[in-house]
Formats: sequence, C-alpha cells, structure tokens
Amino acid sequence: MLAQFQTVGQALFTQGLVCSQGGNLSIKLGEHLVITHRGSTLGSIQEGDLVETGVNKNNRLTPLASKELEIHRCIYKNTSALAIVHAHPPYAVALSFTEREIVPCDLEGQVLLSRVPVLGTEEVAKLEDLSQEIARLLNEYRVVLVRGHGSFAVSQLLEEAYYCTAALEQSCRLLYLLKALRVAPG
Ligand SMILES: [Zn+2]
Repeated sequence: MLAQFQTVGQALFTQGLVCSQGGNLSIKLGEHLVITHRGSTLGSIQEGDLVETGVNKNNRLTPLASKELEIHRCIYKNTSALAIVHAHPPYAVALSFTEREIVPCDLEGQVLLSRVPVLGTEEVAKLEDLSQEIARLLNEYRVVLVRGHGSFAVSQLLEEAYYCTAALEQSCRLLYLLKALRVAPG
C-alpha cells in the first residue's frame, strides 16, 4: 500500500502538480480510509506519513490526517470512489479563475475526462457545503476543480485518479497555450 502512495506522490511532485506540502491522497478500505498526514510532502512519502482513520468515525489518529480529511470523507460517503487524489495543478487552477468548466480539446483529455466542472468557493459559503457539492459532482465527473484551489479526482485506484489529474493539467496547459495564441479550441 505504501508503494502506491509513494509512486503517485512522487509523480505528482515531479510533474509540478503539487508544491512541497500541498495536495493529499487517500484510499478507502471498507469502513476505514488511509490518507496522507497533515502537511506531509507528497514527493517523499514515508510509512509515518500515512494515517488510518474511519470514514464515519474518528480515532486517536484523526487529528494527524490531512486538513482536507472532511472533503475526502464526504466523497467516500456519497460516491463509489475508492481512491482520491487532491492536487494543485497550476494551469488548471489558473483556468479555474476564468472558466466555469474545462472542456479538453486533446484526445486523451476528452477520452479520460470528457469535461471537468469548476466549483466557485463564492457559490458555496461553508466548507461542509463545498464538500457536499464536490461529492455530488464526483458522481457524474471523474475530476472536479475548485476555483483558485485545486482538483479532486476519484477512481477505484490511486493511480487512475492520478492519471485523470495529469490529463486535466495537460488539457489545461494546451487550452492555456491556445488562448495565448488566440486560437479557438475545437
Ligand atoms: Zn488543497
């Protein structure tokens, strides 16, 4: 289990999809989930960087979990996801300020993602509502982008959620370049 967290964490870090202490990963195991430690560095995850806690219940390790634990819990409670990758991909976050949804114009993005909704934090006042809205959208989409913050990707495997995150950033980089060249995508 540690190996898959390390592989995905390192890939996210080396590709610049998270900065030093940003982003978090989790997987669901029955009534439990394993999530990265609060403030852990995804580029160099060690055994002690993983925290196991309940999907519904707290335990003594809960305070050590990523500060975005409640969003992960809400997603697991309301979707069939078994793995979540939360990242801060810079081109995707940049486009989140100007777009209401990301529509990839490259084949991989179209196949993997179809489209990615952008959720504005001004539309949802409380963190609780934001979590609910993210979870609701993730029943329909594989990735949701939160404006000015980052992406939440779900799948059955951590690696698949990572592929979707990387595909989103790839698509956004291309969309950004086309915008810069003033070429209309599609
Ligand atoms: Zn974040």
